[in-house]
Amino acid sequence: MYDGIVQDLIDEFGRLPGIGPKSAQRIAFHILQTQSFDVSKLAELLTEVRERVRFCEVCGNITEQTRCSICSDLRRDHTLICVVEEPKDVVAIERTRQFRGLYHVLGGAISPIDGIGPDDLSIPALMRRLGEATGDDRIREVIIATDPNLEGEATAAYLSRLLTSIDVPVSRLASGLPVGGDLEFADEVTLGRAFEGRRVVE
Ligand SMILES: [Zn+2]
Repeated sequence: MYDGIVQDLIDEFGRLPGIGPKSAQRIAFHILQTQSFDVSKLAELLTEVRERVRFCEVCGNITEQTRCSICSDLRRDHTLICVVEEPKDVVAIERTRQFRGLYHVLGGAISPIDGIGPDDLSIPALMRRLGEATGDDRIREVIIATDPNLEGEATAAYLSRLLTSIDVPVSRLASGLPVGGDLEFADEVTLGRAFEGRRVVE
């Protein structure tokens, strides 16, 4: 334990995801000892990101506008929707350059252990979105790209049932993704292939 404010800083970093006590200590001492480290810049960014960044009103991706750059892009195919768990998955799929449609970010996955059910995610918003898209805008395909782990699979199974019942064509990414992991950890080639080889859910 360190005295006072130094320990407070270490504790605070330790609360961040993926940062254990050792890393927290290393970051705190880096900030203390490195003259060139711009503390006010970091403080400013933290405040600004909270103030300026919000979630896209259409897809739930992060943006500084009301609508994200993907939803606002008229060159993209607005009749294809790829459903993902988190904004970081959008980034991962964009990197593959295999998909030119729109996204729907659920904000997580169904996880009974953590008390997360369908209504805690943006599934009702997805259903509204599909219902509102009529005529030429009618959705031609919903691609489910949840993580290849237990929660992701449960979410995909739930969504497949729900969507086929309202007669929207549904597909899922091909297998070959590292099982148990996060979509974002798949390399571009593997993820790209999974996209190309996606299969229709009957
Ligand atoms: Zn959007």
